[in-house]
Amino acid sequence: MTKLNQCDRARDVLSREVGYVQKPHGGRLRVALAFPNTYFVGMSSLGFQTVYRLFNDLDDVVCERVFLPGRQDLQAQLLSGAPLLTLESQTPVGDFDVIAFSVSFEWDYTNVVSMLRLARVAPRADARTHHDPLVVIGGAVTFVNPEPLALFADVIAAGEGELLVPTLVSAVRAASDRDDCLRRLAPERGFYIPSFYDVRYDDEGRIAAFEPHAGTGAPPVVKKAAVKSTERLDPPATSIFTPETEFGSRFLIEVVRGCANLCRFCWAGYNYLPVRAFPADRILELAAQAKRHSSRAGLVSIALCDHPEIERILTGLLDMGFSISPASLRMDDLTDPIVSLLRRSGERSITIAPEAGSDRLRRVINKTVTNAEILERADVIFRNGIENLKLYYMIGLPTETDEDLVGIHDLTVQMREIMLRHGRGRGHLGRIVGSVNPLIPKPGTAYQWLPMEDPAITDRKGKRLRQLLAGIDNVYFNIKSERHSYYQALLSLGDRRVAPVIEAAERNGGNWRAAVAETGVDAAFYIFRDRSQDPLLPWDIIDGGMKASFFRSEFDKGLREEWTLPPKRHKENLKFLPVLS
Ligand code: SF4
Repeated sequence: MTKLNQCDRARDVLSREVGYVQKPHGGRLRVALAFPNTYFVGMSSLGFQTVYRLFNDLDDVVCERVFLPGRQDLQAQLLSGAPLLTLESQTPVGDFDVIAFSVSFEWDYTNVVSMLRLARVAPRADARTHHDPLVVIGGAVTFVNPEPLALFADVIAAGEGELLVPTLVSAVRAASDRDDCLRRLAPERGFYIPSFYDVRYDDEGRIAAFEPHAGTGAPPVVKKAAVKSTERLDPPATSIFTPETEFGSRFLIEVVRGCANLCRFCWAGYNYLPVRAFPADRILELAAQAKRHSSRAGLVSIALCDHPEIERILTGLLDMGFSISPASLRMDDLTDPIVSLLRRSGERSITIAPEAGSDRLRRVINKTVTNAEILERADVIFRNGIENLKLYYMIGLPTETDEDLVGIHDLTVQMREIMLRHGRGRGHLGRIVGSVNPLIPKPGTAYQWLPMEDPAITDRKGKRLRQLLAGIDNVYFNIKSERHSYYQALLSLGDRRVAPVIEAAERNGGNWRAAVAETGVDAAFYIFRDRSQDPLLPWDIIDGGMKASFFRSEFDKGLREEWTLPPKRHKENLKFLPVLS
């Protein structure tokens, strides 16, 4: 695509948007905010929209968006050599002071490299000069394990944008040059400067030490930046409405941050602690302002009903005429009032995540619900008129046996019976759609030392589940292959030595198997090795707030099939739980 075409396309997109910001560049710090995927995906990300607002709320900053071109345009652009342009002013991205990436998914790592190449900025930080923009990488992945991206970033911003954005802007503004800027950022909370560290490996290739360079101000461990309280913060909410994307015409708003359940496999649960609710009045005020652009509200939270005033929020939104879609609901959220409010607002499907088929295995992973309770909730769901149920399960969990797989079948069949009973009464049978994913042990969880399950065993379990679940009317299951998860695990668990694989996959169009073969990186070392004796893990350079000793004790407790109860559930679970702590 030529530069002219890019400009036309950008103006066309802007003409259909409401709420974007355009500021003159003169005298302002210029930030190109990059989402390493297409416009369609990026504009559905509330995190991306929030960082855009946070930058543009500062008078002396102009922040413009840039996305990965669609597949066809990307090829054309790489061939023509036309530079990547921002959306708002169609300025070459390479002319900006800062390129700030917001990275949410491991699969987008190759797109970070592509976008830097399109912007004519060297993808490797050590090849950049003082004339290049400062490349900052932030987003959800930086909470988890930034190391696979370390060689591409001048700065990794680890934590929450509300704290990171003002600190970054002050440092860039005050700095005399690039090196001075890095030195100013290095001691600040949440800023990791990979080039200020030497990584030392032991004879077995494990990380032995991150050694900060003397005189740089780089700390031995970088503490994640997280806001203590959301009481005085504006909740992240859609600021740009666009008809072009999945959630484009929906008003997205974050209601509560974090989840208190402490499931042992869940990086989001551990890494967004503590649970912090946004003020209900402000949520409703922002919703009222957004009403002229949208009549659908998407509530973004990993544990919506951890908000103490959730019923008031839902009722308020309903009274304003919004239809409401929750991003995800925990099982204990599903009370009669909540489900009936959702049904009244137009919801016909609800998603829940039993994760495992048996109470025993759920005690191992600290998913603090029982089959009896799940069936109770299914009854609440279907009797309130919800027609369809979406289920998430995992396989490859520690201590899993065939009985647990049979449990997935049995539980699903029992939920189906409840669905049919209520459906027949209404004259309309719904459906159950299940999704089964292999466990990828995630950094920053109680499973961070675990190897991924042997692929042959996971394959066998997948086959067994397909047999068990075949031919059940109104029940449809998607059981993911291990191969897909394998490379995601490499990106999730890797360190900076995985960077050549990312570069090779970027060159060859995403063929990860070929990329691993070409670079000679030992993927199995990262994926299938027990890390429990490693002196350090790649993600230990970031202190996310949870102690390794806590994760170890949680893992051991899991093997003893003991729950760790969040305080909120302590009382109500007394009747179910064999072990309390
Ligand atoms: S309930 Fe869901 S969001 Fe909360 S810790 Fe468990 S898996 Fe994570």
